[in-house]
Amino acid sequence: MEFWRVPLDVDEIQITRGIVYIIENRCKGCGYCIQFCPRQILEFSPKFNQKGYHPPVVKNSDDCVNCHYCEIICPEFAIYSVEVSDELSDSYNEIGDDNEFNEEVNGKSNPHR
Ligand code: SF4
Ligand code: SF4
Repeated sequence: MEFWRVPLDVDEIQITRGIVYIIENRCKGCGYCIQFCPRQILEFSPKFNQKGYHPPVVKNSDDCVNCHYCEIICPEFAIYSVEVSDELSDSYNEIGDDNEFNEEVNGKSNPHR
């Protein structure tokens, strides 16, 4: 997207980065999160969840800006994001493996698999 003008303090603004967590078996495949993500980083997974729907998957985890829009718009509370520092995002896989909540709900640790 190209803007015709930018804020005067654009150089000072730090863009946050996020990690998206998807609780696959809560998803009903409505696609709202995919359609309305401002960075277009989500898409439907080819696989089915336990309800028989295609949950979203993350296409490019580096582009998430942790805006929480997917989280706000999801009717099933099946997706959320958390802020991550650059340092942490480098060791993203390690973080995913430590996420006990996701492991408990999805039966697996890394939400982007
Ligand atoms: S937090 Fe924002 S940028 Fe990240 S996946 Fe959700 S809607 Fe997209
Ligand atoms: S908005 Fe929620 S229920 Fe709809 S596809 Fe996304 S994760 Fe699934």
